[in-house]
Amino acid sequence: MSGTRLILLGAPGVGKGTQAKRLEEFFHLAHISTGDMLRDALREGTPLGLEAKSFMENGELVPDDVIINLVKERLQKEDCKEGFILDGFPRTVMQAEKLDELLEGMTQVIDAVVSIQVSNDEIVERLSKRLVCNACGYVVMPGDGLELGDGCNKCSGEIIRRKDDEPDSIRRRLEVYEEKTSSLIRYYEGRGLLQVVDGVGSMDDIFQRTVETLGLSLEPV
Ligand code: ADP
Ligand code: ZN
Repeated sequence: MSGTRLILLGAPGVGKGTQAKRLEEFFHLAHISTGDMLRDALREGTPLGLEAKSFMENGELVPDDVIINLVKERLQKEDCKEGFILDGFPRTVMQAEKLDELLEGMTQVIDAVVSIQVSNDEIVERLSKRLVCNACGYVVMPGDGLELGDGCNKCSGEIIRRKDDEPDSIRRRLEVYEEKTSSLIRYYEGRGLLQVVDGVGSMDDIFQRTVETLGLSLEPV
């Protein structure tokens, strides 16, 4: 399965990050999450983090040129040679066009775009309950028994609610998705790359659906 290059599309809270991590583990693809990269920068207090902070906390998009430079550097790393999964990028038509240019320069193409779909009501419900580790980004799962303020099971971090998972930010992120990102569905449909996956169900079910939709095999080789 070397050389597979995927984009995961979908509103915040549809489970892109979870599915991307599974695809990463199973198929050994590099997982490129611009949200995670920005949160790392924020935690480390780098200039990028400082620049992104207020946009992220308010549920707005970080400016295209900042994100494009970030992804450009990331795609040049060794681990991307065997394929990658883009999670949270592109988010605007401008970013998608720049990505096409970047890949063309690297003689690479996107193989498939998976759009994970979940209703807005379900998204608001999920995000307003979501808890994460402030250090490693681990997303708390129902069986974990972890509550706000607890210590993370994976590292020494604290379990928190992301600032952008407060109700006002969630609403704004959904609006921004409608305004700026949803048109990418047509963009990739027009290129014959779009696959739609229903994002309601267990994480295992959705992984199964995604893998089937992509025509990949879960059988060990
Ligand atoms: P979610 O999908 O849950 O909204 P992400 O972790 O992908 O969260 O992104 C969190 C925030 O990081 C976004 O709301 C935005 O401010 C910023 N961000 C991430 N990726 C991009 C991008 N490609 N373009 C602009 N901003 C981005
Ligand atoms: Zn942690």
